[in-house]
Amino acid sequence: MRIVYDCDVLVIGGGIVGLSTAYAITRAAPGTRVTVLEKEQGPARHQTGRNSGVIHSGIYYRPGSLKARYAVRGAAEMVKFCAEYGIAHAVTGKLIVATDKAELPRLHGLVQRGRENGIPVRELGPAQIAEYEPEVRGLAAIHVGTTGICDFVAVARQLGESSGAEIRYGADVVRVDRRPGRGAAVLTADGAVVRGRVLVNCAGLHCDELARLAGDDPEMRIVPFRGEYYTLARPELVHGLVYPVPDPAFPFLGVHLTRGIDGGVHIGPNAVPALAREGYGWGVVRPRELGATLAWPGAWRIARRHWRYGAGELRRSLSKPAFTDAVRRLLPAVTPDDLVPAAAGVRAQAVLRDGTLVDDFLIREGPRTVHVLNAPSPAATASLPIGREVARRALGALAGA
Ligand SMILES: Cc1cc2nc3c(=O)[nH]c(=O)nc-3n(C[C@H](O)[C@H](O)[C@H](O)COP(=O)(O)OP(=O)(O)OC[C@H]3O[C@@H](n4cnc5c(N)ncnc54)[C@H](O)[C@@H]3O)c2cc1C
Repeated sequence: MRIVYDCDVLVIGGGIVGLSTAYAITRAAPGTRVTVLEKEQGPARHQTGRNSGVIHSGIYYRPGSLKARYAVRGAAEMVKFCAEYGIAHAVTGKLIVATDKAELPRLHGLVQRGRENGIPVRELGPAQIAEYEPEVRGLAAIHVGTTGICDFVAVARQLGESSGAEIRYGADVVRVDRRPGRGAAVLTADGAVVRGRVLVNCAGLHCDELARLAGDDPEMRIVPFRGEYYTLARPELVHGLVYPVPDPAFPFLGVHLTRGIDGGVHIGPNAVPALAREGYGWGVVRPRELGATLAWPGAWRIARRHWRYGAGELRRSLSKPAFTDAVRRLLPAVTPDDLVPAAAGVRAQAVLRDGTLVDDFLIREGPRTVHVLNAPSPAATASLPIGREVARRALGALAGA
């Protein structure tokens, strides 16, 4: 029986990665019919629209890793993309500040790493820190020149528009039917069936579930980590972007001070377990999703390994004075009254069965399928190169279909 396909490539997920993939496919192979299915009523309603809005330089990542290569290249491309389409952005630079002697070796390590990744870094003493940020205290810092800020939601929307793809909002994929030698037919919650020759899974916080629906074992699970933010009521205390020295045990960068593209200063995100994949507050609990997380041995292994750090993060999540105390290490003038609760985000962090937090971007292929299984920070910055790589694989699968 001859199958009639609705499109050549069917992308699930209208965040920045899915839309960048659609954009890259239609650039590389004009005429390819791409459909994007997004369950929300607009683009970028989850990670892409709930992040720090920082164009990362690539300083943190292991030289040669996908994160390092794609962030360095992606940051430059993101600035160009924003300039080309008139999207709000600025190359501001940022400070990474050591507030404790024990952090100095790690700060020097970052200088090395930055240089290996080809990033301009300048080492600063306390007096020079004050020239950039009079209210910030630190023993030493580095200034990273290529960091910037932008409006990632506008970028995602523009990628979708420029791709010429058909984007269907309100299309929640609930079933995937894949047969040998054929493409995929997906069923959405409202009963529509959409057929594509090749399937691309960019479902972010739900990517492991989608992989399993498609019949592939992703060998990882998403463990959702919420990042909570406050807005600074006295934004004049912070001029630009100020980060702590990150803890190398975690792929998270630590609570930072970010003057965003809207002019406001955001403080966060911390990292606490979310009780639902889209659990933006402690009150959002989805027993089925929570049960699936707890059934994954890797989640328990992380809890055992990092309980001390986790307990501190919980305390700072539940107590504003405790959160304020932590921020005071960088910004002594801040008081609890200066911190106004703001919207949180949830990170889609892939965790292996043995409890390893997957550090690099992870893209896997199944028959006529490409799954993006780990695209946490800096994936918004790196979305143009990631999209090209996913597109290359999808077009390869299409050529063989
Ligand atoms: C708190 C926080 C701070 C961050 N800060 C930065 C930063 O400053 N700089 C940076 O570069 N990166 C940052 N990141 C990371 C960045 O936001 C993500 O890496 C990036 O947005 C991932 O994009 P995505 O398209 O993979 O995921 P998402 O934006 O989450 O998109 C996935 C989409 O898939 C859709 N979907 C899921 N399931 C289905 C289904 N069944 N059917 C249809 N659609 C479905 C969802 O609705 C969603 O829109 C941060 C992330 C967080 C959470």
